[in-house]
Amino acid sequence: MKIHEYQAKDVLRRYRVPTPRGAACFSIDEAVKAAESLGGKVWVVKAQIHAGGRGKGGGVKLARSIEEVREHAGTILGMQLVTHQTGPAGQKVRRLLVEEGADIRKELYAGMVVDRSTQRVALLASSEGGMDIEEVAASTPEKIHKVFIDPGTGLRDEEADEVARRIGIPEAAVVQARAVLQGLYRAFDQTDASLAEINPLILTGDGRVVALDAKMNFDDNALFRHPDILAMRDLDEEDPADVEASRQELNYVQLDGDIGCLVNGAGLAMATMDIVKVYGGEAANFLDVGGGATTERVTEAFKIMLRNPRLKAILVNIFGGIMRCDVIASACVDAARQVSLRVPLVVRLEGTNVELGKKILADSGLPIIPCSSMAEAAQKAVAASRGSAAGKN
Ligand code: GDP
Ligand code: MN
Repeated sequence: MKIHEYQAKDVLRRYRVPTPRGAACFSIDEAVKAAESLGGKVWVVKAQIHAGGRGKGGGVKLARSIEEVREHAGTILGMQLVTHQTGPAGQKVRRLLVEEGADIRKELYAGMVVDRSTQRVALLASSEGGMDIEEVAASTPEKIHKVFIDPGTGLRDEEADEVARRIGIPEAAVVQARAVLQGLYRAFDQTDASLAEINPLILTGDGRVVALDAKMNFDDNALFRHPDILAMRDLDEEDPADVEASRQELNYVQLDGDIGCLVNGAGLAMATMDIVKVYGGEAANFLDVGGGATTERVTEAFKIMLRNPRLKAILVNIFGGIMRCDVIASACVDAARQVSLRVPLVVRLEGTNVELGKKILADSGLPIIPCSSMAEAAQKAVAASRGSAAGKN
C-alpha cells in the first residue's frame, strides 16, 4: 500500500525526522488559510498523488505571496498531473500539501528498501539528490552508497555517520544526519514498510538536515498490524479493478496483455501466464480465485476482467483438487450468464468430477471453448484473442 507525501512525513515525524511545517489541503481556501497560519514569506504548494516526478510535471510550485499560493493551488488542484510514474493519462490531483518554503543549500538522497539477496534492509544514500536520482543510479552508480542493515543491531552510529560523511554532510551536521537515518530505519522497521525514501534530503542554509520530500510503501500482508497506517489508504489513487478485487479477496494484478486468465492457485496462475506467452499471447491479468471459489466470487472475477477494454479472450484454467470441477463449471456457466460476455471463453478443467464438469459446460448452450490440456487451452485462447477460426470450436 502507498500513502501520500504528507502522510509519510507524519509517520517520519513520529521518529523525529525533521520535516518542514505544513498542512494537507483539499480546497483553494484551505490552502490559503494554511499558508496564512504557517506565516513566513515563501511557501511551496505540492500536489499529493501516489507518484513521484511531480516537480518536473508541474505539481510542485514555489509561492512568494499569499496571492501566488491561491494561484498555484487553483492550477494544481484538479489538474491531471502527468509524471514519468503516472503513465500518459496522468493522475487527478485531489489533495495538496502547503508547506513553509525551505532554504536549500544542497539536495541529497536517502532511501531504504528490502534487499532480498542479503535478507536485510538496504540503506541507499547519495550526495546527488533531487529530481534526477534515477539518472544518477543509471550513469554514476558509484555515487550511491549502500549499507545492508543488521536487523539485530539496527543502523549503528558508525554506519550512519560514515554514510552521512560520504554524501557530503558537513561535520557539524553529522549527528543530525545520524538521527535522520536512524529515524528512517526505525520508521521502516516498525511500520513494516517495503520502501521509504527521502528525496531530497536537504541541508539548509543554516546547516539543518531536513526531509523535504517523503515516500513510503508498506507490505500489504502486515497491514493488519498497523490500523493507523491502513487508515491512510486513499482509494482514489488505486486502480478500481484492484480495489474491487481486494474487496472480494481475489488476488488480482492487471497486466498489459489481452488474454484474461482465471485460475485457482497462484502457482497454476503463473504457469498459465507462462504457457500463454509460450504460444505467443500476453496475459491481461494475474488472477488467483483461491481454493474455495464460489459462484459469487467467480462472477466478480469475470466482471473485474471484463472491465479491461483491451480484453480479447478469457482463459479459465482450473485444477479440481479440493474444488470439484462440476462446482466450478456451474460457477462459470452462472457467471457467464450474469455478465454479458463479449469475448470468447476458453475453459480447461482437470481433476475431481471433470466429466461432469465438461457436461455442464456443454449442456449450458453457451459458446464456451472446452479444452483438456493446458497447451491446447493456451493455443485456443491465443487464437481466439486474435479472432481466428482456430479458436472456435
Ligand atoms: P517530486 O518531484 O515528486 O519528487 O517532488 P519533491 O517534493 O521532491 O519536489 C521536487 C523539487 O521541488 C525538489 O527537488 C526541490 O528542488 C523543489 N522544492 C520542493 N520544496 C521546496 C522548497 O521548500 N523550496 C525550494 N526552493 N524548492 C523546493
Ligand atoms: Mn522527490
